[in-house]
Amino acid sequence: MEYANRIKGIPPYLFAEIDREIEKKKNQGIDIINLSVGDPDLPTPDHIIKALSEAAANPANHQYPSYAGMPVFRQAIAKWYDDRFNVKLDPADEVMALIGSKEGIAHIPLAYINPGDVALVPDPAYPVYKIGTMLAGGTAYSMPLLEENDYKPRLEDIDKKTASKARIMFLNYPNAPTGAISGKDFFREVVDYAVDNDLIVLHDNPYSEMTFDGYRAISFLEIKGAKDVGIEFNSLSKTFNMTGWRIGMAVGASEIIAGLGKVKENVDSGAFQAVQVAAVKALGGARDCVNKNMRIFEKRRDYVVDSLNAAGWNIKKPKATFYLWFNIPERYDSSISFCSKLLDKTGVVLTPGVGFGTHGEGYVRCALTQPVERLREAVRRIEESDIR
Ligand SMILES: *Cc1c(COP(=O)(O)O)cnc(C)c1O
Repeated sequence: MEYANRIKGIPPYLFAEIDREIEKKKNQGIDIINLSVGDPDLPTPDHIIKALSEAAANPANHQYPSYAGMPVFRQAIAKWYDDRFNVKLDPADEVMALIGSKEGIAHIPLAYINPGDVALVPDPAYPVYKIGTMLAGGTAYSMPLLEENDYKPRLEDIDKKTASKARIMFLNYPNAPTGAISGKDFFREVVDYAVDNDLIVLHDNPYSEMTFDGYRAISFLEIKGAKDVGIEFNSLSKTFNMTGWRIGMAVGASEIIAGLGKVKENVDSGAFQAVQVAAVKALGGARDCVNKNMRIFEKRRDYVVDSLNAAGWNIKKPKATFYLWFNIPERYDSSISFCSKLLDKTGVVLTPGVGFGTHGEGYVRCALTQPVERLREAVRRIEESDIR
């Protein structure tokens, strides 16, 4: 059976080789410490699980949901954006429920990209921006995120011809995989650029609550004029340890939300209402559970960074996300060869930076998604090996 061209063009799964190596090691009885998974290991808070159980028992929630999301959920999102970011949203047409934000990110190019159109995509980045663009027949143009520019793209470097063909721009701050953050100045520049070049800004903000050291992340929609040119994706996945529940949202310009809705009403039938009811509980509840999580991630971050730096590594503490992003030792010629050697010598798995794009080469990502005892064991093995 021959694949259609649109999926033939999708690059092979870069981590397949590492996955095979992990499997082989496990079969040899080697204890693997996997720090490559971007999925919180902590459980969903009890009050949210309880809300789901109750809502699941209610037959009113057993039928097809509305594709845009239940009014109570959309109202809860609007209130949360108002309380948290002072961003006013009309729940009627500026808020849409998603089956996890990945779903919306992957679908929106279908609404705005014609074959040959360009999407401006950061590199390194969450792979879905580029692949979603390709599935719609578009071309992804890489905007390099370089350390020397604090992992922000230099908009003035995008050539005029590409900019004129671009219909959409993806951005993501707090940023995965780099942990970088953005202030209002950069977002203001983005709004101006979008107006000048007549393009749509799609800001992905699933780490807005995963911040450290008192830092509070902003919403792209806080910027004057942002709601005329863009939307923001957010999610309960990381904030409330709900990755498996598949619930998120798109908020912002009503016209853009409507375009996404047009695709969605034809390809899915909404998120299970009981999950939406539980999400209302999560968004409306006290912040304690989020703060408690972040204290756990902060301890892990401090432990790993402080102990590896004491052993000669040079790792910066990110202000947000649960990732560490750092250079591989100079003697390795690629992030894949480093990760493969690391796995061989220590049983510790990190993600090679090149998996997030060409400009991720030379870096690795460490996800802090294991308890501190396992992180301690990982650090011990790294220190005792001659991997550096
Ligand atoms: C986790 C993640 C998402 C997707 O989250 P959902 O579970 O689909 O809501 C989107 N973007 C980035 C950068 C992520 O890390």
